[in-house]
Amino acid sequence: MPTAEIITIGTELLLGEIQDTNTRFLARALRDLGIDLYRTTTIGDNEERIAAVIREALARCQIIITTGGLGPTVDDPTRQAVARALGVELDFIPELWQQIEQRILTRYGRQPSPNNMRQAWIPRGAIPVSNPVGTAPAFICESGQACIASLPGVPREMEYLYENAIVPYLKQRYRLTGLIKARVLHTAGVGESQIDEWIGDLELLANPTVGLLAHPGQCDIRITAKAGSLDEADRMIAEVEAVLRERCGEAVYGADSDTLESTVFTKLARHGWTMAAYENNLHGELLTRLSGAGLPPSLVEVGESACPAEDLSARAAALAERAGVDVALAVSLCPGEDRQNLSLALRTPAGLLHSERSYGGPPQLGASWAVHSALDFLRRNL
Ligand code: ATP
Ligand code: MG
Repeated sequence: MPTAEIITIGTELLLGEIQDTNTRFLARALRDLGIDLYRTTTIGDNEERIAAVIREALARCQIIITTGGLGPTVDDPTRQAVARALGVELDFIPELWQQIEQRILTRYGRQPSPNNMRQAWIPRGAIPVSNPVGTAPAFICESGQACIASLPGVPREMEYLYENAIVPYLKQRYRLTGLIKARVLHTAGVGESQIDEWIGDLELLANPTVGLLAHPGQCDIRITAKAGSLDEADRMIAEVEAVLRERCGEAVYGADSDTLESTVFTKLARHGWTMAAYENNLHGELLTRLSGAGLPPSLVEVGESACPAEDLSARAAALAERAGVDVALAVSLCPGEDRQNLSLALRTPAGLLHSERSYGGPPQLGASWAVHSALDFLRRNL
């Protein structure tokens, strides 16, 4: 199985002026092809440094994908840098020049500038990749078992050329039949260390792999399988998922795009119930989450009192009455000495429930933790 590296080129990336979304796109796309990505590099618009990074990558992996630096200006150095890394000259490709001229004429109704001619030069022996969605042509250079695919920086063009030219090339050249598939199980209401205790042995598996990612009040379990087909990957994932679900029980609330709030609304819909909520001292975070999932904002009351001495159960009951709903959730977070204290009250047609919890993590994450805890309390009791 070939391994890959991504090199994104552009001084504006290094200056933090734009976000490197190309790496994210390519990392996921390579994963979906079953190609292991070992390293990504971001480098400025400097021919010598780009050439050096490409040479280093060539010593480590077979597939190198660069993005950016293919424009018509002097500070677009990728063509020269790739040629330098491979020790070859640049060649002028008349067909590429014709395509560039044609595209600029039909797109912008003008003659190309002399600068544009730069884009028709590619490293000697490179396979030209014409670009129907922009002007900068891309190219692929082969070097022994390795290849360097150089794509434009503009994400839309890069993505188009990757899907339509690079993927077919890689599949054929490296006879790729494998793929990597991931599935994420979401848990809430138990800590990462508890989950780790339940499933630690599975985190040592080689394929599928199982990994944990903790968030305030939630913990994700990622299962990643490498297989020859999607069916096989699905089977491998399903086997491990069954064990994980058995071990973690009710802590698992959903998978992939499921959220705590979508789980709550699915359960409400199953009962045919409506709901309202009250949050105190959560800066509108519960409101944002519930209204994002489709609850009318008018059904969420927001208080900002630092430490109210109030009976939350009574508030939940009164809210259900007033709003004419079946379910009312009341949530209040109070600053304590070194921990924050969370009170939860829930009124459902089955009765009134109350819960007290406390949080000792980073204070600025207290509200997120409280929202997750509250939604978890709600979905477990519907
Ligand atoms: P152009 O012909 O537009 O100059 P190019 O191949 O030279 O294409 P760059 O000049 O490096 O590409 O980048 C063009 C634009 O694409 C940048 O201004 C930026 O908006 C976007 N871009 C470049 N690289 C990235 C990246 N890694 N992630 C997200 N956007 C990027
Ligand atoms: Mg450019």
